[in-house]
This record gives sequence, C-alpha cells and structure tokens, in this order.
Amino acid sequence: MDHESSRRPLADHARALATLVGPALASARRTLSVAPSAVLSAARDAASGPRVLVTDAAAATHLPGFDNSQMDGYAVRAADLAGATPSDPVELPVTAPVPAGTQPSPLGPGAAAPVMTGAPIPDGADAVVKIEDADPPAFPEPGADATVRFSTPVAPGAFVRRAGSDVAAGDVVVPAGTPLGPAQLGVLVAAGVTEVDVAEPPHVLLISTGSELVAAGEPLGPAQLYDANGAMLTAALAQVGVRTTHRVVPDDPAALRAVLMDAPEDVALVVTSGGVSAGAYEVVRQTLTDAWFGHVAVQPGGPQGLGTIAVGPVEARREVPLVAFPGNPVSALVSFELFLRPVLATATGAGPTLRPRGRGPLAEPVDSPAHLHQVRRGRLDADGRVEMVGGPGSHLLAHLAAATLLVHVPPGVAHLDEGDDVDYWEIR
Ligand code: AMP
Ligand code: MG
Repeated sequence: MDHESSRRPLADHARALATLVGPALASARRTLSVAPSAVLSAARDAASGPRVLVTDAAAATHLPGFDNSQMDGYAVRAADLAGATPSDPVELPVTAPVPAGTQPSPLGPGAAAPVMTGAPIPDGADAVVKIEDADPPAFPEPGADATVRFSTPVAPGAFVRRAGSDVAAGDVVVPAGTPLGPAQLGVLVAAGVTEVDVAEPPHVLLISTGSELVAAGEPLGPAQLYDANGAMLTAALAQVGVRTTHRVVPDDPAALRAVLMDAPEDVALVVTSGGVSAGAYEVVRQTLTDAWFGHVAVQPGGPQGLGTIAVGPVEARREVPLVAFPGNPVSALVSFELFLRPVLATATGAGPTLRPRGRGPLAEPVDSPAHLHQVRRGRLDADGRVEMVGGPGSHLLAHLAAATLLVHVPPGVAHLDEGDDVDYWEIR
C-alpha cells in the first residue's frame, strides 16, 4: 500500500471526492423561508455559517425612503440663490429647524430651513447648502428671529439624497446566490424585507475517532490528548456554510456503528478523522469496509478513505457519502483544504470556492519526497519571500496555527533552492 506506484494522484482523489460528494449535497439541498431577523440570529451562531439567498429579494421600500439631506445645512429653493455673489449675497429668513426623525412643513419661496444630515428635505426645497458655506456658518438658536446669507448660487439637487437612489421599492436588492453577510443583512432590514428564502446549510456528521481522545476542557489522563480535530473541522465546515453534529468515538467498531445509527435524519455527509491508516486499531477502515481506503500521493494527508455508508436506524437506513481523513491534526486540516473545502464551498455558495493563490520566491531551501505532492506551512517574510513555519511533520499543529500559507511542492520535485518560486494558498 505504501509503495510509491500504488498511491493515487492528488488530482484523481480530488476528482473522485467531488464526483461523490458534490451531487449528493446538491440533491439533499433544502430551502427555508426566514425573516431577516432569523438570519441575523443564525449569523450570530458561528457554528452555523453564512446563509445563502436562494430567491432574489426585492426591496419593500425605497432606499432612501424619502428625500433627505446629505449634510448639516440649509434646505433652500435653488432659484432663490440664483443671483447670489460675494459682493451681493442673498439674505433669507431662517425657518424652524428640521432634526432627523421629524416631518417638516413645506418651505415657501424666499426662506431657508436648517436641516440635519438624514432629515427629510421640506417639500418645495430642492437643494442643501452646507452650514460651512452659509454666513454665519453656524445655526441660530431655535426660536431666534434670524436671517442667513448665501454668497454663491447652488445647483438644484445639491446634497439631496433622492428617495430610491440606492434601491427602488420592488427592485432586486440582494440577488439569489449571495451569501448573507453583514452588508446584505443590513440592506435587507433597511429595505423593509420581512422574509427571505435561504438555502438550509447541509448537515454534516463529523466523527473524531481515537481511544486516546478527550473532549476539550475535560481532565487529561496519561497518554490522552485533546480532540483538536473536532474543533478545527467544525470551524472549517462552518466557514463554508455547513452545519455540524460532532461526535467522538473510541477505536471500537461497535461505538462507531452506534454513532452512525444515531445520525440526525438530515445528515448529508459523514466526515471522520483518524483510524484510516495501517495500524492495528484503525476503527474507520475496519468498520466501513465498503469504502475505498488507500494512499494519496500527498504529504501530509496520505491515508484517505472515500465511499458511501449507511446512516440512521435500521428501519430508516440511508446511504450518504463518507470522507475519511487521517487523524494527525495537520493532515486532517490540509486534507480538508485540498479535497473537501472546494466541493463544499461550491455546493453551499457560502464563500469563495478557492483559496486566494499566489506564487513567490522561497526564503530558504526546501526538500520534499519526489514522489509526493508536499504541502508545507509557510508565511511571507518582510521581503515578500516564502518562509517555512516549522517542518513537514503532520503533528505540528501550533506551527499550522502560526502559518498563513499552504506552500505546494509538486510531485517530481525533490529539492528547491532559496529564490526558487513556489505556489501557495492563503489560508486566512
Ligand atoms: P490516526 O490517523 O488515528 O492513526 O491518528 C494519527 C495521530 O493523530 C495520532 O497521534 C493520534 O493521536 C492523532 N489524532 C487522531 N485524532 C486526533 C484528534 N481528533 N485530535 C488530535 N489528534 C488526533
Ligand atoms: Mg487513531
């Protein structure tokens, strides 16, 4: 199995996984109608990821909803200021001020109304002169019998934000396919949209396997370690718009079978970590014998599993795809980045399908097994050169956490010199 020629090329495994998982998620897709406030509370729950709009959302109201002022200043009739010059300014009586949130009375000819940013433009007025351009450049005390002078004309429409100039009532304000991030949620609420159709995030059953694993926060016994993969993959799945149910099972086939039987009824995919290599207690490999298990020509992340498994109780068995990652934390997350993230991001539309990519010169020489596609953790140094963060070991999780790049050394390359260019993906 470990023999070089028996390893599956990385691209072949990526294709096999996409072919299995992509259509399964597409057919499991469900739509929900929710109020934007429900989307908002979902957005607060980091583990549920961004929601993606399924149907165009139309604005219920104009945005802005009414003509309003872009400045603190005087609402005027532009025609009144047509002849204003510095030597012969136009002097107008000042009317009652218009604070934001009040509906002003109409402005007759030959008057100026103090208007605050965002407050409605009085009917009859068609322009705003900024307070700094008025004489005096400060508002009078409310109630005072005051006048104001203007020494230049103003163009009709100046500093007036027209009703509907952002979006008109009835027009599409957020199109289908858009992930609902902060700005989209904001505009849905602003435009009075009360209900939107969103894609329900696919539900993934994530299983960390290993008798040595202890849940975060529990006391750690001898030879035990914390389940880092559970946290890491839950967060990674959320970033691509996936809901996760997470379980930890020991290296015991009966325990793994029990968790699969107990799977939530809408699970569309099972992702496991650990238990896929050639050791004596490889619970995933020994239990899920219908799946493919083998080695992919990649480091880290060589041992992989892929197939279809039955979930749910005996009377309601369903077949869903299985993606089995190796247990070493760096292997698990690199496997996710290489194989699963692009497929899930495409299926959910919740984020960019691909990580931003770049290419740059190495700050140091790098060795790599020639028959493998090696993925190293790196970052850019002060000169924009690619430096390694730690060695190739797949247990170096703190180094992964400090890295900002996944650096790719393709198969066929055993050595790169300082200054040689490498491809990298930005991972945060
Ligand atoms: P396995 O793939 O099950 O042989 O595990 C490989 C290595 O990864 C072992 O050192 C495990 O202890 C470690 N490991 C497996 N699962 C996890 C996990 N969920 N969190 C942290 N380390 C793990
Ligand atoms: Mg294990």
